[in-house]
Amino acid sequence: MKTDCPHCAKRGISYFSKWWSGSTTPALCNQCNNFSYVNNGTRHYSFPTVINIIIAAFGIIGFILTQKYFLLWLLPLGYLISQIYLVLYSPMLKSTKKQIDNNKRVGNFILLFLFSGLLIYTIIDFVT
Ligand SMILES: [Zn+2]
Repeated sequence: MKTDCPHCAKRGISYFSKWWSGSTTPALCNQCNNFSYVNNGTRHYSFPTVINIIIAAFGIIGFILTQKYFLLWLLPLGYLISQIYLVLYSPMLKSTKKQIDNNKRVGNFILLFLFSGLLIYTIIDFVT
């Protein structure tokens, strides 16, 4: 049960690795030892995600209207259906150790920026 590697085009990446892969946590091909991942944009802003939201909305609205707890199973079911679709059909992008380190640096910078902004506003709020 493996999927094609974008580097060597052999079936070297497990579907489980593909499921959890991201730009900072890529999957490793066991044929050529290169890294690849599913783009976050593909993962979060695609057709299966819309289906997931619709199924989840049916579950939540149905539960609110009927108070039947089994309708809440539609939430993980919708998530699972969208994830299976994404793992089977979403393309994988090539990555290198250098790109992974750079993506982590960008992520750290964004977190630092957000936290320092929050800290500044907290200090301003405290002082005024
Ligand atoms: Zn490969």
